[in-house]
Amino acid sequence: MNRRAAVSSIVVLGSLNMDLVVALPHLPRPAETVAGERLQTFPGGKGANQAVAATRLGGDVKMVGRVGFDTFGDTLIRALDSDGVDTSRVQRDADEPTGAALILVERSGQNMIALAPGANARVGTPEVERAEKCLDSNSILVLQLEIPLSAVEAATQAARRVGARVILNAAPAAALPAELLRGLDVLVVNEIEASALFGRPVETHDEAAAAGRAALAAGVAAAVVTLGAAGAVLVDASGLSHIAAFQVTAVDTTAAGDAFVGALALALARGADLFDAVRLGAAAGAAAATHPGAQSSLPRAHEVLDLLSTDGEWAAGILNQRSSL
Ligand code: ADP
Repeated sequence: MNRRAAVSSIVVLGSLNMDLVVALPHLPRPAETVAGERLQTFPGGKGANQAVAATRLGGDVKMVGRVGFDTFGDTLIRALDSDGVDTSRVQRDADEPTGAALILVERSGQNMIALAPGANARVGTPEVERAEKCLDSNSILVLQLEIPLSAVEAATQAARRVGARVILNAAPAAALPAELLRGLDVLVVNEIEASALFGRPVETHDEAAAAGRAALAAGVAAAVVTLGAAGAVLVDASGLSHIAAFQVTAVDTTAAGDAFVGALALALARGADLFDAVRLGAAAGAAAATHPGAQSSLPRAHEVLDLLSTDGEWAAGILNQRSSL
């Protein structure tokens, strides 16, 4: 991908969810009731998390999505507003409640998640049109798979029409139509998502590289496979790169992937090349892993720069560049 000089805007079309979390001594078996700690509520949803991640690093980010006419919807919009995300294109759905994730966590860290997509499942043509109106050849469109696939496909086509670049974070794991991958600018997947997409185990660096090559064979311009504490693999036309993880003491890796994608989008919007964008993503993912929670753990520029302190000149250039939008 060529370096572009202009500062570009970022449009995230995706999910907003309220995460409802209960910590338990052990996860319930079917029909079992387990008393846990006090209910905690956290703003989440992959779309919203990625919008916040890019905004906290200084990006101009427009969120497009749907919530219900309910207090969860109010809270989610307020959370994004307070971070500076443009929420003027988040619609209220008259019929469906705000999306919610019911998350049970046991002391070992194992969890169970039930997702009630609610208004996210109603994202469709109006949202795609709203996103399209914000896109031009300098924009970056960021998509995930917590909204209907038809909307993801239509938005990808819309971006192509105007020459905007598309980052697809193919999460949660799913198989995808070949047409969606063909011509995609950047695909980002973790091991589980890569494995679901290409129907082969992805655990080692070599398997991640093979999945990346399979993505390129499917017509993706650049593929990133994230490997948690083992870093990430980037495959593009110039070949294969391994990006080492930054050494941190991880306390909770929730939303590390969202931090990664948000930072990657920000870096590309600021004209970084892909390798540096993936390095910035890795630093943001590592920083997110040092804090508990999802949106609350997403790092600001100074935290990412601290992590890069011995080697951060290039990143300071990306993160300190002021937006003209
Ligand atoms: P996901 O949350 O989607 O499963 P990953 O866990 O692969 O995504 O995390 C995304 C990126 O964040 C990784 O590629 C890595 O660079 C960084 N990261 C995640 N966990 C850690 C960790 N424990 N230590 C350092 N970096 C991490």
